[in-house]
Amino acid sequence: MAGAAESSERGRSPEIRKDVIFNRWIIFSPARSRRPTDFKSKSSNDNSNPNPSSSYSSSCPFCMGNEHLCAPEIFRVPTPDASSSTSDWKVRVIENLFPALAHIRDNQQIENPNPSNSAPTVACAIQGLGFHNVVIETPDHAVRLSDLSPPEIGEVILAHGKRILQIAEDRLMKYVQVFKNHGASAGASLSHSHSQIMGLPFIPPTVSARLDSMKDYFGATGECGLCAIRSEELLIDESAHFFSIVPYAASFPFEIWIVPRTHYSHFHELDDEKAVDLGRLLKVMLMKLSRQLNDPPFNFMIHTSPFPVTDYQLSYSHWFLQIIPQLTGIGGFELGSGSYINPVFPEDAAKVLREVNVPT
Ligand SMILES: [Zn+2]
Ligand SMILES: [Zn+2]
Repeated sequence: MAGAAESSERGRSPEIRKDVIFNRWIIFSPARSRRPTDFKSKSSNDNSNPNPSSSYSSSCPFCMGNEHLCAPEIFRVPTPDASSSTSDWKVRVIENLFPALAHIRDNQQIENPNPSNSAPTVACAIQGLGFHNVVIETPDHAVRLSDLSPPEIGEVILAHGKRILQIAEDRLMKYVQVFKNHGASAGASLSHSHSQIMGLPFIPPTVSARLDSMKDYFGATGECGLCAIRSEELLIDESAHFFSIVPYAASFPFEIWIVPRTHYSHFHELDDEKAVDLGRLLKVMLMKLSRQLNDPPFNFMIHTSPFPVTDYQLSYSHWFLQIIPQLTGIGGFELGSGSYINPVFPEDAAKVLREVNVPT
């Protein structure tokens, strides 16, 4: 693989590409970089696990046997059988012990549950209602998500979907963000493999911008921007129901999108078969990142559609999963402008990721 993308990168001049999904401009500046793989994570396995080889940690609230250290459980997989004496579980969905938002209402009436409909004011606030849950992806302390089998990752994915449906029953909730932070520098406070779910009483600005941009693209072309995104040069891998690419205007080096082949607006519509298929492709992508970039910290986010949505919104909104390895920091330019400088051209990143084989 050494030097795989070296030749294509040489002599390339900077380019500014439009990301039509998130509606932002990305500056590709290879002059700032060495070879794509020079972006390898500096410290391997940056997940602050003090004893990564042990499957149990007495101080870890997510380990099997330590359930009493956790916030209350919402559900577990498999669903306990009343006739069975075993309390074994594979996935648990629990409250967050330190939630950013709570769903317990106080006695005060919510004056305006929809802040977007209120008159402009410099001090607009609503009660901090919402859901903040944790999905413990495995009972084993030493196991990472990518160590699980595709059916096991599928069970985690189905748990995400089931919880989204439960949260959607609360009519105040407008959007659910599923995300994973892996590694301390990607924001993970506990090393035991887990992901998080936040139910929000508003549609976040990145989501609004994405939906508006996809609507504009659909209006101009008659096509969904994600149905049209497939490109052989940017393709990393594909499965029966999904494909994975480095997006044409990736904001970050080695950013990956996993996209359903069929146009679906909501992630939680996914059935058992597609969940296992997604599990397999997600596992492959995480292993490829780990192999090629020295096990970097990463985040993944599921970008779905708000609820409720109209039929017209369904025609242009298409859910996908975004993986961002944490290889370069975000600086003042990115924070100030909302634009990004990416030193690795997506075609080069896709080639580096396509070329490495991983066992599944
Ligand atoms: Zn643990
Ligand atoms: Zn589509």
